[in-house]
Amino acid sequence: MAHSTESDLDDASAHDASAHDASVRDAGEATRRRQLFPRPAHSILTRTGGFLSGFTHSLQPYSGCQFSCRYCYVREMTVQRANPFGLPWSRWLAPKTNAPELLWRTARRGGLEAARIFCSSATDPYTPAERKLGLTRGCLEVMARHPPAALVVQTRSPLVLRDRAVLARIPHVLVSVSLPTVDEGVRRLMEPDSPSVARRLDALARLRRAGLRTQAAVAPVLPGDPAALARALDGCVDRVVVDDFFRGDGAGGRRSRGALERLRAAGYERFAEPGMAAEVARELRRHLGSERVLESEAGFNDLAWASSV
Ligand code: SF4
Repeated sequence: MAHSTESDLDDASAHDASAHDASVRDAGEATRRRQLFPRPAHSILTRTGGFLSGFTHSLQPYSGCQFSCRYCYVREMTVQRANPFGLPWSRWLAPKTNAPELLWRTARRGGLEAARIFCSSATDPYTPAERKLGLTRGCLEVMARHPPAALVVQTRSPLVLRDRAVLARIPHVLVSVSLPTVDEGVRRLMEPDSPSVARRLDALARLRRAGLRTQAAVAPVLPGDPAALARALDGCVDRVVVDDFFRGDGAGGRRSRGALERLRAAGYERFAEPGMAAEVARELRRHLGSERVLESEAGFNDLAWASSV
């Protein structure tokens, strides 16, 4: 299978030209505001616990993130609070320049065989800088040769399509694309620097056509029509995980206060209350079947698909 090229990616979004142009303008503007601090890291795998208890490690090829999701709770965590650059969240990115080499060293010691890896929990492995730097891709190449017991690649970027041939060489992999809403206006309100809804749906469909196991992460659930969400997802995902601000931010919603205020100010009070994820999950189950729709922590940590390969 040939790797997709930039023109493939552009073709993929041709039907979404105006939204795509807006996204590109937004992303270009955002990139200009951001600073890169490439440097080698001491380690690449981090032991997981808490919310990701089903995994043994998280893998972050980058510190920081270039997508400035308004609800991102990582900005309330140590990685941001202790960042040595003195910049606000999403204004800095520290690529771990030796990420593939570090993973390679672990692999050579046999350290990947039993690992259940979540990539990534505090950045997006396909943050825009990945297009040139290829650090995530380098890590995938290592895992294609030394497969972990399970790998979840969690992203909101269609750039993941570039690596679908490498991903297809990893036996126990699931590609999860964040899709908290199919309402493009809401997406712009809450994720102004992220790829459009249409481009993410297209990426999911193409990943699945390439034979990869796909998941939509409706997390945190944002305002939108659940039936339209179900119709959009049917046919391009194997499963869906739904979560909300209250269970998903690991602090009962305290790390999401700013996002909840933003939603209320925009007139989406219902979506700023606990219970919306369960309501949306019910509607999704009606359309997609109960076995394909999971919720919150139990859903993200359900790795039954990895043992059934
Ligand atoms: S992509 Fe993830 S890590 Fe990056 S800003 Fe959005 S929620 Fe935060």
